[in-house]
Amino acid sequence: MAIHVVCDLENIEPWVRALKNVDNPVEVLTIDNVKDKSSVEFVLAWTYPHGMFEEYPNLKTISSMGAGVDHLMSDPRLPPEVSVVRIVDPLLSQDIYEFALSVIMSRLRRLSFFRDMQRQKIWKRKRYRRISDVSIGIMGTGVIGNHIATQLHNTGFRVAGWSRTPGSSAPYRKYHGKSQIDRFLVETNILICLLPLTPETENILNKENLEKLPEGSWLINIGRGGHLVENDLLELLDSGHLDGANLDVFREEPLPASHPFWDHPKIEITPHMASLPLPASVAPQIVDNYHRTLNNKPLLNIVDRTRGY
Ligand code: NAP
Repeated sequence: MAIHVVCDLENIEPWVRALKNVDNPVEVLTIDNVKDKSSVEFVLAWTYPHGMFEEYPNLKTISSMGAGVDHLMSDPRLPPEVSVVRIVDPLLSQDIYEFALSVIMSRLRRLSFFRDMQRQKIWKRKRYRRISDVSIGIMGTGVIGNHIATQLHNTGFRVAGWSRTPGSSAPYRKYHGKSQIDRFLVETNILICLLPLTPETENILNKENLEKLPEGSWLINIGRGGHLVENDLLELLDSGHLDGANLDVFREEPLPASHPFWDHPKIEITPHMASLPLPASVAPQIVDNYHRTLNNKPLLNIVDRTRGY
């Protein structure tokens, strides 16, 4: 019995080490070295060719290597009887909060403008904005979005969240469902997307929705590239309706060199690294789910496959 790993990481050694360091030592193998496919019951996966899991007749659980599971849910040939679990890690949520806060403060204090001035040796002042000047709207107040919304609220920002269902009470203002999205958007100056990518949320960052943000707003997309209609964003940036966008995720990753986002003066790009899972931090829950699988016990952080997240 072993944890079988399939992903596009060049070096999976830190994962193998972290998994083996967990109290309950396990064997860790890359899936391409497996001779007997019927021996595979638990897979740790990131990117993989769609349909490949059909060849593993005794596969019971696939664990995503991250919080998102769209790479698994979008596989039309994912065997229906296989359980999917994902990573839920406070460190990951905190990393994304720190990323979002850095982006917001950098934009409020216009740091990229001053870097440009420095390059040209120009001593020029420009008015900055304060925390009290803006309202933040977070799309998707699940494990990560709720953490960020709460931390930003505690830092002094006006914060609202939007989710699919009402959920439990929170220290920030909450909206939910399609009927409340407009009210959420019209009071948001900084829109942060932290939704999972599902058929319902795909293309949600489109012209119709982004136009409802007040003029001069900006977008931070940390969810997935498939949430954003790229040409709609370009149109709204170029017309001046939106002031800027910080994009961490893209439809095609790595972002192709010819993509217009690279050179756009209002777009700031990071290479899908608002958070990087720390193997040592997430290994215990993966190993725990591995043993739960072998012992037919309820799994942790299980994904609702009909809901898609
Ligand atoms: P989660 O706990 O599953 O939360 C998902 C949230 O989205 C929930 O609040 C859910 O509403 C809401 N939602 C889902 N479908 C919706 C819909 N149709 N309309 C409105 N709201 C909807 O997920 P998480 O752990 O917070 O992670 C969220 C996403 O962040 C991941 O799926 C991944 O795409 C992204 N992510 C990105 C990075 C990065 O480095 N860029 C890192 C980690 C995660 P309910 O509360 O009503 O269910």
